[in-house]
Amino acid sequence: MEKSKDACAYRGELLGLLAIHLVLLAVNKLRPELLGKARIVSDCLGALGRVVSLPADRLPSGIRHSDILKILMVHCQSFTFECIYEHVEAHQDEEKGYHELSREAQLNSCMDLDAKSELWKLVGQDIPAQQPLPLEAVVVRIGKDKMTAGSEESIVFWCNKALARRTLSDPKVKWINEEQFDEIYWPACYSALTGTKRMFQIFASKQTMGIAGCNDNLAYYTPGHDRKCPSCGVAIETCAHVLACEESGRVDVLHKSIDLLDQWLRESGTETNLRRFLIQYAHGRGGKSMQEIVGFQLQYRRLAASVDCIGWRRLMEGMISRELVELQKYAVTGTGSRMSVETWAKELVIKLLEVTHGQWLYRNVVVHDRTAGDLVTRRKEEIRDALEEQMELGEEGLAEEDRFLLEINLDELDNSTGEDQTYWLLSLQAARDARLLQQQNNAAPGVNQSQSGI
Ligand SMILES: [Zn+2]
Repeated sequence: MEKSKDACAYRGELLGLLAIHLVLLAVNKLRPELLGKARIVSDCLGALGRVVSLPADRLPSGIRHSDILKILMVHCQSFTFECIYEHVEAHQDEEKGYHELSREAQLNSCMDLDAKSELWKLVGQDIPAQQPLPLEAVVVRIGKDKMTAGSEESIVFWCNKALARRTLSDPKVKWINEEQFDEIYWPACYSALTGTKRMFQIFASKQTMGIAGCNDNLAYYTPGHDRKCPSCGVAIETCAHVLACEESGRVDVLHKSIDLLDQWLRESGTETNLRRFLIQYAHGRGGKSMQEIVGFQLQYRRLAASVDCIGWRRLMEGMISRELVELQKYAVTGTGSRMSVETWAKELVIKLLEVTHGQWLYRNVVVHDRTAGDLVTRRKEEIRDALEEQMELGEEGLAEEDRFLLEINLDELDNSTGEDQTYWLLSLQAARDARLLQQQNNAAPGVNQSQSGI
């Protein structure tokens, strides 16, 4: 029994056939003069077909489960006796009594039972890592997984992760330390960002690295540029401040965005306690630790320590805790939710980034009231058309001040019902309202002089 990213029912059948062939190989080694016939019976036609049609000396490149097939090809094709392959119908014991079955069907249902009981023994335990197969001469591992055909994506991920761990903890980069790095569930960040639009990836990268075009950064290369935040007009605007701004409209949008996140967590089968903790923590805006939220509940202590190590800002930037994913994994097993835990984690990363992105949109609308202000007066469909038009045009045809419009995760707009209040629309609307108020009060000097850019 082993944990493998390639695990599936078909691989299980192939492993079974490999085991039978290895037993035959051992017998043949002991009795090299043995003649006659061996009948090999399986309930999987696909696996049987694959074994029967193995090439003599070379597997096609890119073939799946090549580790198993290679051993069969190299070691199990030249027995002194003949192998005969036969198919047996699976699950015959569901319709007939055991004693009514043929001997092959009886053995087949016995094997099914044995396999299931082995699986049950592993419930609640760590599944052992992959081991080399018998007679497998060389194994190349990527992380804990054995490398087989189709592992290219894993190599990219593991190389990037190793490089990132080393680089990001460098004191000159001052990004996150190794302790934080190890608490983050990176596979979800990786799949989230590789699955979103290019501009959204750039936004996520610049915000998390602290190099987005906030006023503090713009002031480095624009003499006389005001470093203050365009919304509150008080704090120096850094990337961290974009999430932490105290201006009432911004805080309001943040809370509303988190409510949308809550709605998504409900709809996606998140374990109730995890959802409550996460939402409370998010609403706390960094003022409440996860330790305070979970209190004395022992089963959540590790989660609390992990989330508190990562910190509020990083979590809101999509860096979710490994413990969170681990706890949700058990919840998914219990509820039979159709969404896999990997998909759940990936979507959660995108949703968190969208909450953060909402803050940027709001901020940019305050700075560029003209374009966005016009946009929100139009119907949502028209806005989507306008944005998609902008996306097609790309950066080239756009004035610098309008480029922030491209930095939107348009997948969110593809929602077929079109009824969901999306983060960007919420932010645009709220920012416009805030701007109107400001104009009425003739307040907030210096707002129009600021420049934007994520
Ligand atoms: Zn502010």
